Amino acid sequence: MKISSKSDLDFLEHIQWEATSAAHDDVFYERKLTEAWGRARQAPAYSSLPEFSAQAFKDLPVTSKEKLKALPLEFARVGVGAALKYYQTTGTTGVPTPTPRTLLDAIANTVSVAEAWRTLLAAGEHRALILLPSDIVPVADLVVGVCEFLALPHVKAYPFTAGISDWDRIVALWEVFEPTVLFLSPGVLLQFSQILKRRGLLDRMRSSVQNLMLLGEVSTPELRQMVGQWWEARVYDASYGSTESGTLAAACVHDRMHLIGGSNYFEIMSNEVVSEARAGRSGRLVVTPLNNDARPLLRLDMGDEVTFEEGCPCGADSLVLTVHGRGSDGTAIKGAQVRTRDLESLVYSAHDVMGYLIEISEDGSWSRLLLERDPSVDRETEDVRARSVQQRTESQFGFVWDEVRFVNRLPAVTKSGGSQKSWKRSNFRVLDGEASRLASTFEEVGA
Ligand SMILES: [Zn+2]
Repeated sequence: MKISSKSDLDFLEHIQWEATSAAHDDVFYERKLTEAWGRARQAPAYSSLPEFSAQAFKDLPVTSKEKLKALPLEFARVGVGAALKYYQTTGTTGVPTPTPRTLLDAIANTVSVAEAWRTLLAAGEHRALILLPSDIVPVADLVVGVCEFLALPHVKAYPFTAGISDWDRIVALWEVFEPTVLFLSPGVLLQFSQILKRRGLLDRMRSSVQNLMLLGEVSTPELRQMVGQWWEARVYDASYGSTESGTLAAACVHDRMHLIGGSNYFEIMSNEVVSEARAGRSGRLVVTPLNNDARPLLRLDMGDEVTFEEGCPCGADSLVLTVHGRGSDGTAIKGAQVRTRDLESLVYSAHDVMGYLIEISEDGSWSRLLLERDPSVDRETEDVRARSVQQRTESQFGFVWDEVRFVNRLPAVTKSGGSQKSWKRSNFRVLDGEASRLASTFEEVGA
């Protein structure tokens, strides 16, 4: 995020004021919505809208993510060749969505997130190690921008950058840099933790680490508690949002997700009726990002079921967001609809596995849960633990696994984090044919 003109600096200072000092009242939102609406009208998808009015906004149907992903450039007011940054995202369908961003986009998102995280990342006390992908997707650029803005020493080292970075390189870098905060996806954290445990390095390496900031994938409180114990560190579900919307909420010191109201206007949709975000309300999250420049979006339906609450012990008066996930994100396993976060809560609640993979037969009649061993946990206990997983699966989801099996290592696809955001592609595989089911289909690597 390079500021090279007075007007860019003025914009940055204005966004910072909006994030920290401006009253987020009706007058504020009317002004910001008028501006966002005006920019949106310059994009083909919104070009037929009338002038902004409160009524016109209320009458505007929500914008679905499906429509946005189907025609992403119809929503852009700045073309791919004219925007400063070009990113692409891959959603669950695997089809890339072009995502151009201007300098104003980068400034606004970076400053809003930096101010939201400021209390977690006080300058002068932290050194950040950023284990997030740098290429094509924007996540590492955002975190670098936040570190620059907060004057936090930092280094980027995505462990899957062939030819540049790998686990050995990161271990060596660690000895010199002694990071206090890590930014990474839950999958990468699990894999990294396992490697350090196997090598007997975790005790030594964790001594400098205070905060683990998880991004890029769903993480459950059970997973955060488990890795927090391993690392003796505070673990945060650092932010919520999407590449399309920008960052919408950020963690506070109590690991609760607060809405970033200075840069977004939030609404909630329940029974197809859209209403203002208020404490106690539940439904689908609808957001109008207030600073989107290259691709303004009005009333974007995030597709996630959420609840708003107030009164976080951290003292911030912004609403606390709880994300329940998509109504449609359940996966059928033996006739039950299982949501990612519910299954992960179950898998990680005993604090003793490093990852998991669900295998299912083509016709859905057979399923197996593979659990990756924590090298520090006694193997003698595995039968008992497998039975406990079976009992909890039956009481929570109403089915039992045909097998619950502990293995030394799962395929790397379950761990690559950030590049494989889809649960169905990373933690789930369909086995074809009877033979594969009866054979030992899983090749264990190493001992
Ligand atoms: Zn809080």
